[in-house]
Amino acid sequence: MTQHNLIPESKLPALGTTIFTQMSALAAQHNAINLSQGFPDFDGPRYLQARLAHHVSQGANQYAPMIGTLPLREAIAEKTAALYGYAPDLDGEITVTAGATEALFAAIAALVRPGDEVICFDPSYDSYAPAVQLAGGVLKRLALQPPSFRVDWAAFQQTLSSKTRLVILNTPHNPTATVWPKSDIDALWRCIEDRAIYVLSDEVYEHICFDAAGHASVLAHASLRQRAAVVSSFGKTFHMTGWKVGYCVAPPAISAEIRKVHQYLTFSVNTPAQLAIADMLRHEPAHYRELPDFYRARRDRFVQALARSRFEILPCEGTYFILADYRAISDRDDVSFCQWLTREAGVAAIPLSVFCDAPFPHTLIRLCFAKQEATLDAAAERLCQL
Ligand code: PMP
Ligand code: GLN
Repeated sequence: MTQHNLIPESKLPALGTTIFTQMSALAAQHNAINLSQGFPDFDGPRYLQARLAHHVSQGANQYAPMIGTLPLREAIAEKTAALYGYAPDLDGEITVTAGATEALFAAIAALVRPGDEVICFDPSYDSYAPAVQLAGGVLKRLALQPPSFRVDWAAFQQTLSSKTRLVILNTPHNPTATVWPKSDIDALWRCIEDRAIYVLSDEVYEHICFDAAGHASVLAHASLRQRAAVVSSFGKTFHMTGWKVGYCVAPPAISAEIRKVHQYLTFSVNTPAQLAIADMLRHEPAHYRELPDFYRARRDRFVQALARSRFEILPCEGTYFILADYRAISDRDDVSFCQWLTREAGVAAIPLSVFCDAPFPHTLIRLCFAKQEATLDAAAERLCQL
């Protein structure tokens, strides 16, 4: 009998386990304070939890509609109109997904064809590249340079070709904590307006933006939004990353293609969680409106506590991460520094080079400050001893 070798030939041969899983496991192994993977160590709003229990007890336990429950789509449309001056169509333009991760994957799978070029900006969130690769696309990674990580639009223009199909952006930006001003959204539009190029805008930190100007959403740009899929997530906004409810707003023709993927990736998303989030958005909008103040206080406390350390802290305009330069402490590369930091100092962080394709010869780590004050104080205490 012929023996078949049933080890699959990998479609993603270069890919290992995500850095977030690796570092959280190392943190647990060494009992370190985990400032690596981005999640809060405090609970979300009581009202939200109560509404989840309510909807479960009321029997909202069967499949939700494929595109999302009506109350949640209504609440998303109201929020989008209030914040960005645009009310997406309930039936044609909003799709509720299993976290932002699913929306990003579905959008890339729907829009990118074999041989298409996709542009992203490095450092870039780790889920984009594998999705592009699985779709047969070719990723062109434009490297942004610290400390400002601003886009050079002339260099961007150079990367465009007749094969460019999609641009992926992320603002507020994980991992650099920078925020695109509206002028960057305008510049992107000017570069692509005459070309058949789509935009995928990852805006999961839309409510964690510290400057007075606030978040410049692609949805607020009347022309760009007509060819964009804009992705967000309630995990960041309501401090419950484990609920995995996100959404995508896109024009009907783009949404239709994204839904073709979504309906066979997950079909639909947790019904009672959607209903609870709709209640939360409608009845406690102050929660997301006050999120910048909530996180600014934590950011400032942590940055101040690190002022007497030998780390140099880079400006943080948004997200719940800060970048710290450890040049004065060690000459290790960033991956081994993070491993060392977890083992020897008892604080876990994320190295930045893992978000980049080209060599990234900088001494930068990412620290998550979505933590209780006591956690931040204890971590700062340890970091100040280095
Ligand atoms: N995009 C970015 C930039 C993120 O930081 C994250 C998660 N932290 C996601 C997407 C995924 O979000 P979700 O957990 O809702 O899938
Ligand atoms: N997005 C989270 C972060 O940046 C991690 C999500 C995950 O673990 N996949 O830390």
